[in-house]
Amino acid sequence: MKDFLYRFFQGRYGAYGTDRMTKVLVVLAVIFLALSFITPLSILYYVAFIMLFYCYFRMFSKNIPARYKENEFFVKHTDKVIGFFIGIKEKFTGHKAYHIYKCPGCGQKIRIPRGKGKVAIRCPKCGREFVKRT
Ligand SMILES: [Zn+2]
Repeated sequence: MKDFLYRFFQGRYGAYGTDRMTKVLVVLAVIFLALSFITPLSILYYVAFIMLFYCYFRMFSKNIPARYKENEFFVKHTDKVIGFFIGIKEKFTGHKAYHIYKCPGCGQKIRIPRGKGKVAIRCPKCGREFVKRT
């Protein structure tokens, strides 16, 4: 069974883990589903369904460069919004859950969770690795 799953996922986008776009879509779909039950906005049920369907489509897609670009585009255009929500959460919890590091190779900003000790960070843009204390 494990072998079957491995072969099934091989060469598909989902084999490389979940990206930001998938995570956000799943969270939004769950929120929309909940809202469709507690509010008269039943249309949200269908929106949530389409979102989940799209997540599956992306996971099983073999066009990895296209999915990768899609996520890049998504991150680029939602980073401020998501950063805003993370900022609210940090205000409530009183501590910063993340620290922003700059890649020494290309200057790309990378968000790393705090309190993990010494970690090797791999830049998603240029692939350069560097070690930081978190
Ligand atoms: Zn870099």
